[in-house]
Amino acid sequence: MKKLGIIGGGQLGKMTILEARKMDIYTCVLTEEHPSPASEISNEYIIGSLHDEDKIREISEKCDVLTYEIEHINVEVLKELEAKGKKIFPSSNVIETIQDKSKQKELLNKENIPTSKWKRVTEDTIEQLKKEFGFPVVQKSCKGGYDGRGVFILKNESDTEKMIQGDSFFEEFIKCKKEIAVMVARNSDGNTVTYPVVEMVFDEKTNICDTVVAPARITENQYKKAEELAVQCVEALDGVGIFGVEMFLTEEGEILINEIAPRPHNSGHYTIEACKTSQYEQFIRAVLNYSLGSCDLLSPACMVNILGEDGYAGQVKVVGMEEMMKIDGAYLHLYGKKETKPFRKMGHITVLNDSEEEAYRLALKAREHLKIISE
Ligand code: ADP
Repeated sequence: MKKLGIIGGGQLGKMTILEARKMDIYTCVLTEEHPSPASEISNEYIIGSLHDEDKIREISEKCDVLTYEIEHINVEVLKELEAKGKKIFPSSNVIETIQDKSKQKELLNKENIPTSKWKRVTEDTIEQLKKEFGFPVVQKSCKGGYDGRGVFILKNESDTEKMIQGDSFFEEFIKCKKEIAVMVARNSDGNTVTYPVVEMVFDEKTNICDTVVAPARITENQYKKAEELAVQCVEALDGVGIFGVEMFLTEEGEILINEIAPRPHNSGHYTIEACKTSQYEQFIRAVLNYSLGSCDLLSPACMVNILGEDGYAGQVKVVGMEEMMKIDGAYLHLYGKKETKPFRKMGHITVLNDSEEEAYRLALKAREHLKIISE
């Protein structure tokens, strides 16, 4: 059996390992701390920084294939290991492009894949750019952004005082009808499969995607276009693995690529119960170059994130479990993080129902019951 190394100890790693365990695939995790969601259930773990070259060399020696569940990791050492023949998927080129949002934008432009207009911010051009883009305008850090951090919407001139420091670009503010996403898996043979197009609903306060509805309630043409564009993005990257492609559906009905995640994605959690092959199993199939599984939807679904309650920090206490359990068709996932803090991703609930609207209603109800507070 091939051994799989996963850089990162978070929930995406955990859910991948749960699938690996079913197939008796050996896993080793590089985690910044233990216990962590992934290291608690992997066969083996190494504790260290995800930027530590020696630790990445160490995990690579233990495994046949190396992957990651987070993109903020050391790329230089991945290049070195690839040069020595190590199998790393998605490749270091992919992660290098994705780590820097401006490089992603350049790739999309080069491939003529629709995305919003953007320009790098420099001290010399800032005044000119404010005029050119007007307000509101979106400022994005080139590197290091995550879950809405590294994205700042400037509503007016006075917001310029709070601008993000460091390398960044301005992006046209898109009036969205919906935010949608498509998961794409691609193996080394170049075969691709796409999951259903889903709708993502974002929490205004935290800017975290906290509700996903599958399938997206959009027109057939929009649906097809979204699938096509998602595959185009992954092929442009020459990506091997699983990818979450986030898009904007504009008020005019146009689809623009927002960004690409080179790993399992929050918008694909629902696939665990709702699709023939979950995104996590598919991820394993893709990076180990097995045949890809069917992405068929078995039932409409709604997934809600469970975030740490505002105002609570410290050791986790789960409340409302019993009430939540009474909800028909609800599946609870708690990631096993020991410490909560406001808006930290602590788990999710997926509800399956023949009616999409009912799945949505029940998922919100489930989340009203289940709360993560601190002891
Ligand atoms: P992250 O890497 O943190 O997920 P994103 O680039 O996806 O960052 O931005 C987070 C969210 O901010 C998006 O899902 C969307 O709701 C909002 N956003 C980002 N870019 C734009 C834009 N150009 N116009 C309007 N809203 C945007």
